[in-house]
Amino acid sequence: MTPFLAARDLKLSRGGIQILNGISLGIQRGELVALLGPSGSGKSTLLKALGGVMLPDGGEVLVDGQPLDALSSAEAAATIGSVPQDDIIHTGLPLGRALSYAARLRLPAGTSEAEVDAAVERVLAAIELKDRAEVRISRLSGGQRKRASLGVELILAPPVLLLDEPTSGLDPDLERTSMRLFRRLADEGRAILCTTHSTDSLDLTHQLVIVVRGHLAFAGSLADALAHFEVPDAALIFKRLRDARPEQWAQRYRQSPARQRASARGAPTPLA
Ligand code: ADP
Ligand code: MG
Repeated sequence: MTPFLAARDLKLSRGGIQILNGISLGIQRGELVALLGPSGSGKSTLLKALGGVMLPDGGEVLVDGQPLDALSSAEAAATIGSVPQDDIIHTGLPLGRALSYAARLRLPAGTSEAEVDAAVERVLAAIELKDRAEVRISRLSGGQRKRASLGVELILAPPVLLLDEPTSGLDPDLERTSMRLFRRLADEGRAILCTTHSTDSLDLTHQLVIVVRGHLAFAGSLADALAHFEVPDAALIFKRLRDARPEQWAQRYRQSPARQRASARGAPTPLA
């Protein structure tokens, strides 16, 4: 099975610093994947490389088996929705109007008013904010504003969503509510990769991808992660990561049963 979104041996350096050091992974449609790692590990950079926002120096991003570079910018925009860490819509406009403007900008020229309205209705339902359509975005709660940013990306209904810390700053209840929403969006057939610092809702995910200082320390199921790091709870993985150097974790992962299972699911094999 070819993963819908894959990275093969991604390497990226800026200013003489190696930020990504050979990351390989594969995500199927229908999968919600959590991207974890200490601050400064390269999570945001990996999302930018996967979304075509930053160009890697080595390796490649594959979408449905095709190199991302082979897609036109319009095709890429319709395929991958990226929601950056900071809110992208700061506005006094009501949510429904803001989405309507965004829809007019993003949908092809000639899209009818009725089609724009239908897209806005669909997005409001998807982000579970139908009852907030008349509320100004500046008056929404932090969690609702993050969902509004996600809503803008859902207008084109991309099969891939890359979400950078969509739940940071949310209390544990709202964090779980948001993760449930992402899980539902994944269940509808999307491939979703989301960075998070919380380990509370990993049971809702299909895979964890763990990066440490640009090295892939792990990619696989929560159960495989607990076995691999020999910890009873995912919250303990971060502490455990300090027991060895990032290169050593990457080496251990390459030799692990979890890595073999990832290859069996079609994740690209690192060249090194
Ligand atoms: P994370 O999201 O895991 O916190 P980032 O991807 O934001 O990590 O950053 C990883 C490392 O790369 C950090 O040390 C950061 O300072 C560095 N970095 C990120 N972007 C750039 C850039 N454009 N130029 C130089 N260094 C960068
Ligand atoms: Mg980040």
